[in-house]
Amino acid sequence: MEAIFTVEWMKQVARQARAEGRLIGFVPTMGALHEGHLSLVRAARQQCQPVVVSIFVNPKQFGPSEDFSKYPRPIEADRAVLEAQRVEFLFAPTPAEMYPDGFRTHVSVEGLTERLEGRSRPGHFRGVTTVVLKLLEIVQPHLAYFGRKDAQQARVIRQMVRDLNLDTEIVVCPIVREPDGLAMSSRNAYLKPDERCAATVLFRALGTARQEIAAGERDAVRLVAAMRKLIDAEPLATADYVEIVDADTFEPVSRLRRGCLGLLAVFIGTTRLIDNMLVEEVEDSGSSFRVSL
Ligand code: AMP
Repeated sequence: MEAIFTVEWMKQVARQARAEGRLIGFVPTMGALHEGHLSLVRAARQQCQPVVVSIFVNPKQFGPSEDFSKYPRPIEADRAVLEAQRVEFLFAPTPAEMYPDGFRTHVSVEGLTERLEGRSRPGHFRGVTTVVLKLLEIVQPHLAYFGRKDAQQARVIRQMVRDLNLDTEIVVCPIVREPDGLAMSSRNAYLKPDERCAATVLFRALGTARQEIAAGERDAVRLVAAMRKLIDAEPLATADYVEIVDADTFEPVSRLRRGCLGLLAVFIGTTRLIDNMLVEEVEDSGSSFRVSL
């Protein structure tokens, strides 16, 4: 694996790969890699060669009181993991390389970014879309891989790619979970042992909703109430939001429809975790729904 630290060199490598007619697959990350990230790397490896993984803890997507400075940065362990996956290129620029003095341009997607994560984390999506647009311009990938773990982010990026006619296909991959259901996340490392137990409440809440849907419940308000009840019963957990939204517009729905997402953000102690389930109407079934956790 070749580690690349400058924008110019990354662009040159990408230009060369495109000129050779190769299909560039790209997995953007903030590092502290886990199986969730690696599932994206494997998906990219199946379709593309070369695979480029970026590790960049993007200061612009953290709020002033968020965890930018304490975010884990185990760069040597991450390098070893990517070597083992036979990734061709690691792109790991510094903040000064990405945002040199005088940087002034940002990109934001309207509407989709104002609710849920956008409301709880003002400026977050503007930071995400700005960095992802820059990364796509630098790496020039044919395909870029994102996790459904960050469902709203994936939706916002798809919108940006469509609106700005970018030459990259966005692939969204399933959520990878720990054996007890907790969605893998670099932030899980912040959890103390008792918090780690409590953190399964996100998965348990989604599981309750899934059971109720299987039993015939279609009312989104009652499903949300059932999830909230479970979270409220967990002493270490504080719900930030619990919603069922249309998977396209991200506006709340009152009844389940063709494609919805059940979305949760929950504080476990001071650590904020998110999770979601995808609820899809099964084609030609009348009104039966498939729930993917
Ligand atoms: P991050 O390093 O947290 O910015 O995540 C980088 C990419 O990995 C994003 O596209 C995330 O959605 C994805 N990702 C993070 N955790 C998971 C997970 N548990 N399952 C699937 N994808 C994930």
